[in-house]
Formats: sequence, structure tokens, C-alpha cells
Amino acid sequence: MNISTDKVVEIEYTLTVDGEVVDQSEPGEPLAYLQGHGNIIPGLETALAGKVVGDHLQVTVSPEDGYGERDDEAVQVIAREDFDDDIEVGATYFAQAEDGSVTPFTVMALDGDDVTVDFNPPLAGETLNFDVTILSVRDATPDELSHGHPHGVDGMEDDEY
Ligand code: ZN
Repeated sequence: MNISTDKVVEIEYTLTVDGEVVDQSEPGEPLAYLQGHGNIIPGLETALAGKVVGDHLQVTVSPEDGYGERDDEAVQVIAREDFDDDIEVGATYFAQAEDGSVTPFTVMALDGDDVTVDFNPPLAGETLNFDVTILSVRDATPDELSHGHPHGVDGMEDDEY
């Protein structure tokens, strides 16, 4: 069975940037995603289309097909008093908007009452190198299609969202 839209796919992957491993699936815990539903970055999804179980491939993804280019305007200075918690340089926090949407950001620097934060995704502007092995491909269940993401190995509902 080839990978195509509405298939549930399990992959093992290692992601390197400039030769350094920045993310990888744990042994025995592959990443499951639903093809064609934006579960994974576009460049990787496109490269996996048409592939079959056992295929092993190297995929290079440019920023525009990955996490986007860096946006200098996404670096902002926020007042220290706007934070509830202790803050740590390099840590990721979440800003909640009035509509309830949540946006992650990274603290870049602390200077007195000024906190410099970066709303760019950590891998924005980076060229991503994936080493991917395809472990399984199956049809999605109606539940999975309506939710837009995979459930357990048998496709049964196992989540609340
Ligand atoms: Zn669900």
C-alpha cells in the first residue's frame, strides 16, 4: 500500500540540522500521522507520498516547506511583570490570546524589567534533514478522518480531542 491522502503512516525518523541531531523518534515508539492533513511539515509529507513500508529515505526540507523563514518582528520585548512565573533564558513558555489560542515562545534574554522573547518556531529558517524509515501504512478509520489525526494502532478512539 502506497502512502497517499487519508492513510495512517508510522515512521521512524531522525532530524538533523547542520549535522546535529535535534529530534528523533524513540526506539519502539514510531511517529504516527495522517497523510494529507497537515500533521507533519509540508516538505516531509510531500516526500513521503507514494512510498511504501520498508522504504528508507533522506529528505532535505527547505525553510519554506518546513517551519518557515525567521521573522525579525516575532522577536519582542515584554515587561517582566507580565509573567506569573519565574523565567529562565532558553526556556519555552506559552502565551494565551483572548480567543483562547496558545502560542509558544522562547525567552532569549532578561534585562531588568525587560524580557526579550522570540515567537519564531525554534527551527524557523533552518534547512531540515530527515532520515526516515516507513514502518506501516494503513487506511484511516472514519473517526480518524473526522478528527484529522491518527488514534491507536487499531484506529479506535483513545483521545478526547
Ligand atoms: Zn481524535
